[in-house]
Amino acid sequence: MKNLIDKLYKTQTLEKDEFIYLLENYNKETSEYLFSLARALSGKYFGNEVYTRGLIEFTNYCKNDCYYCGIRRSNKNVNRYRLTKEEILSCCETGYELGFRTFVLQGGEDGAFTDKAMVDIVKSIREGYPDCAITLSFGEKSYDQYLKYYEAGANRYLLRHETADEAHYSALHPDSLSLENRKECLRNLKKIGYQVGTGFMVGSPYQTTKCLAEDLLFIKELSPQMVGIGPFIPHKDTPFGSFPAGSKDLTLFLIGILRLMIPNGLLPSTTALGTIDPKGREAGILAGANVLMPNLSPIGVRKKYELYDNKICTGEEAAECNVCLRNRVASVGYNIVEKRGDFIGFEE
Ligand code: SF4
Repeated sequence: MKNLIDKLYKTQTLEKDEFIYLLENYNKETSEYLFSLARALSGKYFGNEVYTRGLIEFTNYCKNDCYYCGIRRSNKNVNRYRLTKEEILSCCETGYELGFRTFVLQGGEDGAFTDKAMVDIVKSIREGYPDCAITLSFGEKSYDQYLKYYEAGANRYLLRHETADEAHYSALHPDSLSLENRKECLRNLKKIGYQVGTGFMVGSPYQTTKCLAEDLLFIKELSPQMVGIGPFIPHKDTPFGSFPAGSKDLTLFLIGILRLMIPNGLLPSTTALGTIDPKGREAGILAGANVLMPNLSPIGVRKKYELYDNKICTGEEAAECNVCLRNRVASVGYNIVEKRGDFIGFEE
């Protein structure tokens, strides 16, 4: 087992059956060994610095119907909202004062935000905050659309592939969505010059260790700058409402593997990890993660952006969250820093 972890450390990848073996046989001792190597690598590239991204959930309308998602089109129990441009800019203002140097605009695939509207919003943030990175995360678009946002001033795009296994992809999504298109979007984003983030849920319904091995191999091939993973957490108003949540230990183990695969990568310790375990985000940092994505959305809409049940940090003001996170990160020996936190060596 340790031999395989050593091999991963040296070569930054493994064969598919070797990944499967690791994922099926890890234990506390091997996890600790993996995490110690992962921390050594994050320390080498980032010291004890942790970057934060201010998340602005600007719309919970979505035309899609992914089976796992709490804001899917078919969920009639969601109170839908859209933030205005002024509200989005006000979130940025609060975030900047609190030390955020990256803003993440995240939303469902909402046709009301036309390209013209998004370009206008991105340009306004770019003009108001020239020293900040702008990350977008609102799903699948054409090459030309991604290009417009990039030219308006966006720097990064997050689009989780969710699963790299065709059959599993079909089990999680309606026929209108395809893995091939998802991958094409990711390739287009890279081609344009975005810093690209992908990722997947751990423990989603019907997932096997073979699926996870395929996820890791796809990530190796794509070579993204960021990878966000979190445990699957069911949402009661979805077809997967009665499935069990994913495992915290397996999520942490995978964060460790990802750090060895992408030593200088930007790996968030996700809110979902903090939702299944009160100390989950701290554990994520100790497993090799180096990014946190606290919420800057107005407090009145936070509960309405519930992708899964019992999401944490929906009741606190951004300033409160900020203090809480700083203390949490400090408790495990790391520091939140006021930096954009770009991928090392990335040139725009
Ligand atoms: S996962 Fe994304 S694309 Fe799918 S329904 Fe939810 S918000 Fe829409």
